[in-house]
Amino acid sequence: MIGTRPILEVKDLVVEYGSADGPVRAVDRVSLEVAPGEFLGIVGESGCGKSTLLFAIARLLSPPAEIVSGEVRFEGSDMVTLDEEELRAIRWRRYSVVMQSAMNALNPVLTIGAQLKDAILAHEEMSSRKLRARSQEVLRLVGIDPIHLDSFPHQLSGGMRQRSMIAMALVFEPELVIMDEPTSALDVVAQRSLMLQIKELQRKIGFAAIFVTHDMSLVSHFSDRLAVMYAGQVMEIGSTRKVFADPKHPYSVGLMASFPSIRGPLQPLTGIPGSPPDLAHPPGGCRFHPRCPRVMTQCRTIEPPFYERDDVQIRCLLYADGA
Ligand code: SF4
Repeated sequence: MIGTRPILEVKDLVVEYGSADGPVRAVDRVSLEVAPGEFLGIVGESGCGKSTLLFAIARLLSPPAEIVSGEVRFEGSDMVTLDEEELRAIRWRRYSVVMQSAMNALNPVLTIGAQLKDAILAHEEMSSRKLRARSQEVLRLVGIDPIHLDSFPHQLSGGMRQRSMIAMALVFEPELVIMDEPTSALDVVAQRSLMLQIKELQRKIGFAAIFVTHDMSLVSHFSDRLAVMYAGQVMEIGSTRKVFADPKHPYSVGLMASFPSIRGPLQPLTGIPGSPPDLAHPPGGCRFHPRCPRVMTQCRTIEPPFYERDDVQIRCLLYADGA
């Protein structure tokens, strides 16, 4: 059930990477909200800032990346201003993170059981018996036989490794799970089965999810709302159903036309000509203007604000009143 008051509110968030060439603004004044139990998908090409945004929300950025300004309000408190100790108190318990590659995130020389034990004991004292029972319970929850508590990561399939990462993320039943392309290392069948399982867990436990991916077909099936990012900015945000049925921003239109749909008549796939800008020197005006098929004179100098159409926010001058 999706609640109405947001559990997470990101306001005007700016993240920059320091470089010899000057600051590179990877996330530029991003604002978004996530309601309790909601599944928000964030899509865009590689390098559009979606993973940096996710890491900033989770407060997992490391230098040279830093949050320059903005707020990340999680259940009322501003995550940007919390110190490490305050963050440790809520990370894993109230929100958790699932990384892109379980093979890199899991420790290859520890069994799954030992890693679950470390994760649990880092946040809560628990007797060995209770700890074993909880570990078995979360593995069962993600469809893994608890016998694998004694397995090492290399003894599991790619799908099982990702599922054990999800088990770790759910061990304290957090209110928010942040996922960075959790299925990208899997084949299409394993991807779909993992996504179905994540949705089922979400239904059972009720957590909200933020899910970053470049896979349009996955978000079209599994997310409630969708944010389309380009060159560090959100270009369109609204209900997934509305954005897919009627994409309004020319970049969203291009993205939708570059992946095959399983419904409707066969359409030729078209890519988006050109490549994303260098974020150290983004173009003036609308950042998409050098690639936009509908570019107008004013797009080269005026940076579009958001306009609203049918509950969808679009950062494009085509929707300015009178345009
Ligand atoms: Fe295209 Fe102009 Fe809209 Fe940017 S503001 S997406 S250049 S039409």
